[in-house]
Amino acid sequence: MKHLFDVWGKVVHSLKSADHILFLSDYDGTLTPIVDEPESANLFRETRKLLRRLAKNRRYTVGIISGRALPDLKSKVGLEGIIYAGNHGLEIEGLGSSFLEPIAEEMRPFLQMLNRVLLATLRGIKGVFVEDKGLTLSVHYRMVDGTEEIRVDDAFKKITDPLSVTGRIRVTQGKKVYEIRPPVAWDKGKAIAWLIAKFRESSGKGGVLPIYLGDDLTDEDGFEVIENNNGVSIFVGEENSQSIARYFLKSPEEVTEFLKML
Ligand SMILES: [Mg+2]
Repeated sequence: MKHLFDVWGKVVHSLKSADHILFLSDYDGTLTPIVDEPESANLFRETRKLLRRLAKNRRYTVGIISGRALPDLKSKVGLEGIIYAGNHGLEIEGLGSSFLEPIAEEMRPFLQMLNRVLLATLRGIKGVFVEDKGLTLSVHYRMVDGTEEIRVDDAFKKITDPLSVTGRIRVTQGKKVYEIRPPVAWDKGKAIAWLIAKFRESSGKGGVLPIYLGDDLTDEDGFEVIENNNGVSIFVGEENSQSIARYFLKSPEEVTEFLKML
């Protein structure tokens, strides 16, 4: 894994030779620092300004792909004329079209019920927070005392294990968060592949260079698709040999620097 700025000359060469650049990024932990409460993860003013400029540039198409629900993501980013993919790509808006994963839509009432069960069960543990994102649920435990984490884990697994082994839900993990998703083979990687294909189809441009930045486990599916499409995959965080991204940037602050360089 190379630091992106150490190989900048090479990257600039690929950027210059591409017909078009599809700039895609995760939100939390990538464009903004990780914070205790998800609602206070806001974009730096400068990052928003730079994303806006990039989106207006004819050579670029900008998209944000997040585990957040689509309306939440849109209000956090607050930019027009870009692609938004919420709930890890289960819902996408942009490029003049929209996508809603049909099984996820069907599962909505079941997740509502599961949300109530989780709320009732985890209520006794201080600091745990269940977030209803419509098509998925998140159980955040960043604010839970370290010694209590095992209780969250036990209670969570007691409810979700029988459902995941029987294929009714999919459970994934992120930074101090469990995520409950519908049982569909859809993830950030599939969403990125869908966007690349959609872009090629709508623009008629073949030589598109995709970029993807992300900081967490769920971003690895995205990096894989980017690598298969000869794009630029960037892990955000300290150098991480577990990640399949080709490059890394140390922090959201460095991502802002990268945007300036673009
Ligand atoms: Mg993230």
